[in-house]
Amino acid sequence: MAKGKMIYTFEEGDGKNKMLLGGKGANLCEMTQIGLNVPPGFVITTEACLAFLENNRLPDGVWEDVKKQMAALEKKTGKGFGSADNPLLVSVRSGSAMSMPGMMDTILNLGLNETSLQGLIKQTGNERFAWDAYRRFIQLFAKIALNIPDEPFDEKMKEVKTAYHARQDVDLKADQLKELAEAFLAIVHRHSGKPFPQDPFEQLDIAIKAVFRSWNGKRAVDYRKQFKITPDQASGTAVNIVTMVFGNMGNDSGTGVGFTRNPGTGENLIYGEYLVNAQGEDVVAGIRTPKPIAEMAQEMPEIYDQLIQLHNRLESHYKEVQDFEFTIEKGILYCLQTRNGKMNARGMVRSSVEMCNEGFITKEQALLRIHPSILEQLLVPQLAPNFKGNSLAQGLPASPGAASGHIVFDADTAEARGRSGEKIILVREETKPEDIHGFFHARGILTSRGGKTSHAAVVARGMGKACVSGCEAIHIDDFARKATIGDMTLHEGDVITIDGGTGHVYAGEVPTVEPEVSEELTTLLTWADQAARLEVRANADTPGDAVKARAFGAKGIGLCRTERMFNSTDRLPIVQEMILAETLEERQAALDRLLPIQRNDFKGIFKAMKGLPVTVRLLDPPMHEFLPTAAQLEMEITHLRHLRDTIKGIEELPETLKLLNPGLYQKYADGLGRLNDAMTTFKESHLEEDVIVKKEKTLRKVRSLAEVNPMLGHRGVRLGITFPEIYSMQIQAVLEAAALCAKEGIEVYPEIMVPQVATVEELMRIHSYVKRIHKIVVLTHGIDVQYKFGSMLEVVRACMRAGRMAEDAEFFSFGTNDLTQATFSFSREDAENKFLPAYNETGILQDNPFEVLDIKGVGEVMKIAVERGRATRPDLKIGICGEHGGHPESIAFCHEIGLNYVSCSGPRVPIARLAAAQAQLKGVTAKGANA
Ligand code: PEP
Ligand code: MG
Repeated sequence: MAKGKMIYTFEEGDGKNKMLLGGKGANLCEMTQIGLNVPPGFVITTEACLAFLENNRLPDGVWEDVKKQMAALEKKTGKGFGSADNPLLVSVRSGSAMSMPGMMDTILNLGLNETSLQGLIKQTGNERFAWDAYRRFIQLFAKIALNIPDEPFDEKMKEVKTAYHARQDVDLKADQLKELAEAFLAIVHRHSGKPFPQDPFEQLDIAIKAVFRSWNGKRAVDYRKQFKITPDQASGTAVNIVTMVFGNMGNDSGTGVGFTRNPGTGENLIYGEYLVNAQGEDVVAGIRTPKPIAEMAQEMPEIYDQLIQLHNRLESHYKEVQDFEFTIEKGILYCLQTRNGKMNARGMVRSSVEMCNEGFITKEQALLRIHPSILEQLLVPQLAPNFKGNSLAQGLPASPGAASGHIVFDADTAEARGRSGEKIILVREETKPEDIHGFFHARGILTSRGGKTSHAAVVARGMGKACVSGCEAIHIDDFARKATIGDMTLHEGDVITIDGGTGHVYAGEVPTVEPEVSEELTTLLTWADQAARLEVRANADTPGDAVKARAFGAKGIGLCRTERMFNSTDRLPIVQEMILAETLEERQAALDRLLPIQRNDFKGIFKAMKGLPVTVRLLDPPMHEFLPTAAQLEMEITHLRHLRDTIKGIEELPETLKLLNPGLYQKYADGLGRLNDAMTTFKESHLEEDVIVKKEKTLRKVRSLAEVNPMLGHRGVRLGITFPEIYSMQIQAVLEAAALCAKEGIEVYPEIMVPQVATVEELMRIHSYVKRIHKIVVLTHGIDVQYKFGSMLEVVRACMRAGRMAEDAEFFSFGTNDLTQATFSFSREDAENKFLPAYNETGILQDNPFEVLDIKGVGEVMKIAVERGRATRPDLKIGICGEHGGHPESIAFCHEIGLNYVSCSGPRVPIARLAAAQAQLKGVTAKGANA
């Protein structure tokens, strides 16, 4: 395209250049050029928008070109702009390179005025339609271009409908719409101080500028911020000037929106909604509840055939599920817009697998179509299957997942209460784009009007939030902050549960369960495993977690945190005994009791993971974490002492009374005796002699273990060095469990991993314990189980010394939680609640480094460690087991630097499997595991 050209007709624009023409404009060009029936028009580029926003005026020559193109449109359509006989009307539509549904402005029916209105009546012979178009245009133009809010117009509409007993706006007759349009003109004059602009070119000029400005409107800016849309992804909005076609010209006209496949399930069946005798915004805004497209086959069979043809052409051209808008004007179907359909995870997965099986796309394309993080939606909670409660009402199942929360009736309250941590369900008659901030903070959305393609439904699906729309049984009274369903009243703050998969609404909080992995997902993930180089393991600490992780497709356990086993209620007293032991013998006695318990845990995990590696990490946290806090102990001791003194006083009471007042004593002797017995019983059962002594001893221990910086203190391998008997017990438990499993014929691959290693000497010492205990286990169990010995890399020094570490370690696993803490010197316990949000908001950091791996800093440290480690031991196995191991972009980096595996929590395993495949398919230049 010529440099500097700022206007392109649909016949000449490059359909691939979304940056310049916006997604919508590029598509209109592409659709026109592949022969679809698109109303004629032209695009003003995003470059023109940016220049306008910079200088607050249209770039030189643009307005002249707009006029030339309008003249060309007049010629093409045979209509005249502002004509009193055969008027040309246009829509002025926004559209940037990234889809931002509803976030910027669009004006329809532009070109209508007192003169062209008469032309439209003549042209169509339909007075009602012309007045309807006019009143719609006035309101929309006033809102977008003149900043006049909807309320006075909506009020007037209500008033007129009430006066003429009209249930819906379609019930209004021509003269009633005329009355409405005239009232609307008066509203504009009153609010803007000027009459409504009658010159169509003046309207066009104002509208183009308003749409350009909407790029910087609050809604659009918030949306870009939330979805991290950067200027290199989309910069400025294009303006599309499109000849109007009318869906409200009678019963052979209509409008609708559709997906080429069901966006909720992925089923290959045209899916959408339409309204007869209506204009586009009626469907999207949910003003009337539309009909499913399936009904069109009966109601308008010829149009339905045209729609099927359109569907086929769109999919075979775009090779992607399309979300399209159409209008039927007097029996002719026009395609107004198409874009890649936003589908939920289920829809994406099924359509990927099916489009591949249908030969539309390759396996690689099927895998690359899906952003791994949306698979999380497949893990959304569902209502517990045994739940039998009756629903209060049923609407449309607009976005899957079950969600419970407190009802709120507006987006601002949803934001405020959601921010403070409350679970919120946003309940509205219908939602509008300006409600977007409420969506971010709600767990689910319930609307009483609108279809499955209404704003609420589309936005909720995109966000993976539960949504029930069009639940007409609910009557919402915003002012009274209540809703009624039959004779039941729900107030703001009441708890409800919505099921976006069935459309049911329930009172109160309903129990939910995690969903099952579908057959299509299993297929897709099998393809992913075939494509990926990185393996995906799970972080799992118990046999139960290991079973679940395996079901999610984990290829082993990359991190078994043994301290979680120490914390369970039956073991904690033994662990505490071990910590409080005064002598080695006492400690050994406690460890001897822990040994069989740990051995059993490991056996369970090895069995669940038979045939796959299991990395067991030796004890990591500081000892004090297994004891009560000093404050807690001090409080208990004070109470107990007080109780002891009180009881002593009560026990002495009879003697004292006898001395002071023998008469009174005589009178109450019996009662006092009984009270004394009760106290003695209480003392014997609750205040044994040594209870206070024991707590005092624990307190002394807690004080002696106290550290100013426990996260940098006596933990990890440092414990193993100072208390070798603890690590020895754990090593023995691992190796014996492996030997016992092997004897039962279970294939085991134990890997013993040491946390917090900083020096080579630490690692060598622990390795010597392992070698010694292994020899004993081989002798006592008569079987030589192979194992691997390795180190976590979570201390910066260890990364720097990786070359030497690799002489001893057969594998490394990056503990990026601690490594991030160490590299930034940010406390992993506090940073996220204290200063990180401010760092993110002010742009000092783009992301939370505890969530998204900091490639430039932490990643650099990792790269050095990988290079140095592999220089020593080329086949060194290296993985990651910090939280980043489940984060798609971080996984891509792990692939790039040549790690062998990532390990993450069980439910993130499917996400990681897909991310690993994508990393390979996107051709990231891996260094290779053996490089
Ligand atoms: C880490 O530090 O990344 C890690 C996996 O260990 P933990 O979170 O248990 O400290
Ligand atoms: Mg750690």
